[in-house]
Amino acid sequence: MEPLLEVKGLTTSIKTKQGYNNAVEDVSFAIDRGEILSIVGESGCGKSLTAHSILRLITSPPVYITKGEIFYEGRDLLKLNKHEMRNIRGNKISMIFQEPMTSLNPVYTVGKQITEAILLHQNVNKKEAKLKAIDMLKTVGIPSPEQRMNEFPHQLSGGMRQRVMISMALSCQPELLIADEPTTALDVTIQAQILLELKKLRKQFNTSIILITHDLGVVADMAQNVLVMYAGRVIEYGSVKEIFSMPMHPYTSGLLHSIPRLDQNVNKLHVIDGVVPDIGEMPKGCRFWPRCGKAMSICQEKQPELFELQEHKVRCWLYKG
Ligand code: SF4
Ligand code: MG
Repeated sequence: MEPLLEVKGLTTSIKTKQGYNNAVEDVSFAIDRGEILSIVGESGCGKSLTAHSILRLITSPPVYITKGEIFYEGRDLLKLNKHEMRNIRGNKISMIFQEPMTSLNPVYTVGKQITEAILLHQNVNKKEAKLKAIDMLKTVGIPSPEQRMNEFPHQLSGGMRQRVMISMALSCQPELLIADEPTTALDVTIQAQILLELKKLRKQFNTSIILITHDLGVVADMAQNVLVMYAGRVIEYGSVKEIFSMPMHPYTSGLLHSIPRLDQNVNKLHVIDGVVPDIGEMPKGCRFWPRCGKAMSICQEKQPELFELQEHKVRCWLYKG
């Protein structure tokens, strides 16, 4: 069966005086209907930029999509005109942004915005839409939702705006939902509630979800497949089951070892030494080598390909066949 979305060799670059720097390089993955795929990695590794590229929300220089194809139901999104793309964004793919203010309209009340989204995407009348909107606000944990309906985005706290945005994205009942760190800023109870809503959405409408997060607990709980990114590149890709039980890339094992455990002393938490390299100062060869305990001489010279071992892909010289 054809995947719902297939990203092939996506490269997004930042133009500088020295030339193009690839902030996202040769990223490929596919997602089926009803699948939840997680994209993980430290901040600055290109997760959000990948998502924004898919929706073609990168419109301003100096950032450009310089290579690749993004097939949605077989059509290359990079070849669509603005009008066609707006249709896809409105009807097929919704996104929950890390920064909620960007997707809420400051001049309309919260109630009006959610009600409009429901009217546009669900087969209900105005009165029903309004009741659904209130219900939706309740679902994402907004207290006294009837009253909040009449308020404007600026009257809400950041966390509440985030939840309003999530309720709007859910109301659109998209085929594909891209959620960029949707719950990072929220407290655990609300977080659990929202993750539950995402699961329901998937179950009810067979919605596919790209869940961007750095919380591996969330990945384990939600996703079937996981794409691990480091410094703009995919470094490991496969099923959550396989990668969590048998991580191959030294970076992925490092990430998995850094999950805090209740039975561990917090002081003994494993962290990966060093930081993600700056976009203008990417090391030659494997971009992880300055932080890798297993680096060999070839690692500093040549970039490893994404080696394929059965269902599992890994970009590391240790796995060259
Ligand atoms: Fe480490 Fe080399 Fe593998 Fe990179 S390619 S992760 S430096 S062993
Ligand atoms: Mg981000």
